[in-house]
Amino acid sequence: MRAKLALVVLSLLLVIPRAADNTAWFGTPVPPPLSDPRKPIMKHDDAFAVLPTHFARRSGRHDELLVGAVLKADHQKIVGFSLESLAAGDKVWGRRAATPAFIHTIEWTVNELKTAGLKDAKTETYAVPGPMWVPVSWQLQVVGDPAFGAGTQTVTLQSAFPQPGGATIAGGSLTAPVVFVGHGTDADLAGRDLKGKMAVVHVRPEPSLFGSAEQGVAARLVQKGALGVINAVEGPGNAQYFDSRFACGKAPCFMIGGNDGWFLQQVIGKAANAGVLDKLKVSMSLASEEKSALTSANGVATIPGQSAKRIIVNAHADGYFQGGDDNASGLAVLVGLARYFSKQPPPKHTLMFVASGGHHGPGNGPGSLVAAHPELKDSTLLILNLEHVGYADVVRGKTRAPNNTGMSWELSVTEAAKAVGVTNESPFLIDLWRQAARCYGVATYQSVGPTVSGDLGGYRPLGVPMTQMIQSGTFYHSSGDVYEAVPAEALERAARFHAFLLEKADEAPEALITAAKGTPYQSALKGCQ
Ligand SMILES: [Zn+2]
Ligand SMILES: [Zn+2]
Repeated sequence: MRAKLALVVLSLLLVIPRAADNTAWFGTPVPPPLSDPRKPIMKHDDAFAVLPTHFARRSGRHDELLVGAVLKADHQKIVGFSLESLAAGDKVWGRRAATPAFIHTIEWTVNELKTAGLKDAKTETYAVPGPMWVPVSWQLQVVGDPAFGAGTQTVTLQSAFPQPGGATIAGGSLTAPVVFVGHGTDADLAGRDLKGKMAVVHVRPEPSLFGSAEQGVAARLVQKGALGVINAVEGPGNAQYFDSRFACGKAPCFMIGGNDGWFLQQVIGKAANAGVLDKLKVSMSLASEEKSALTSANGVATIPGQSAKRIIVNAHADGYFQGGDDNASGLAVLVGLARYFSKQPPPKHTLMFVASGGHHGPGNGPGSLVAAHPELKDSTLLILNLEHVGYADVVRGKTRAPNNTGMSWELSVTEAAKAVGVTNESPFLIDLWRQAARCYGVATYQSVGPTVSGDLGGYRPLGVPMTQMIQSGTFYHSSGDVYEAVPAEALERAARFHAFLLEKADEAPEALITAAKGTPYQSALKGCQ
């Protein structure tokens, strides 16, 4: 009898939440609000300064135009256009192509180039093909139920950000049970019924959303019957993210930050353990619209050379949120380089500076530039792209994160290593890049290859050598990509190296730049100058 009673008590214990859990949401603390997008999310501790720059000033060379403080002042102005967009109430705020804040960025750049003496600096507008998706309002809630503990109230996930394409939900909102799908691989989906449910994917930005294995998963989940998708990003704080690779067509798809994602996954697990997962529902609301017949722009200026053959220096001016590294960093360096070269003796080749309309939809800046300038086809020698050139390195390895998603994220005193791309793998160009780390302290990968991701795609029709260094970090395409995440020293290292690269490429015989991979080559570089 006693044994029977014990069994009854035991089975009751299995289905009824234990006393410790008998509080709201099984005792799980509700997530904090959205991390302030005006401030760094990362632990920002100045105990150790970032690696200093030790560049000797060369007399008569106007190196003062490339010092970190000067570049950082421009960087702040560029980020300021994004904050203007935030203050104006733009939902997808930042320097999103074709929006007023973006056009102001282009106009500012053109004005700076003009002031630097590039007389032909101008804004070149182009019609944007296709519409721009704009969210009007949205909300993502985890619906409370007494089964999750006494006093459980509905929780609004405040970092929730809708992904491009989601249509206005008929009737305003959609409420359905959740299904957790891990990373959304076929192995994760085995035995999972997605039909009529809201799928939750765990996204690891490893090392960033650009490299994440969960790209495209959201769209596949909808094809398999999910009503909507929540991409829960394993990231610091509670940031917002915006990236079309995590969208799912017309269905509602959201990305949520680290704190919201942790809460949601915790309560899914606890509800499952308590046998009440079927009661756990998510409610999505979304209203969106499409804007069409938009105009975007490139800012273009040249420093005439002795030859009509040109070297194009490109930086995309658009970006999401503050876009501190993507790509206020590259644009600040472009402006600095234009000022610097305007003070040097005339180059051999014409230097063409392009603040491009970029590729953060809608439209494509470089593609539109190439279409508007057929003369570029035969007159371009080389294209250098400045993109994501100064992000501080984010490390995880010291203390365990309180939410146990692994180690806490911290800024280090170095910059994130950049991947170097040289499309034709010219031995001479690679030799120049070899000096980036050696002479200028620029952190790069140890390898080099022909791949150039980012803004250069639109220049491909020109069929000329293109080169760049680029990286994408923890806060790529998120509200965490802030002004503070780009050290002044990083901008100076990038600017000084790119000035060197441009000078050497300009002086060199053209055959060295166009030489294919494996062409015999003898380095003629003399030290670091
Ligand atoms: Zn980007
Ligand atoms: Zn970019």
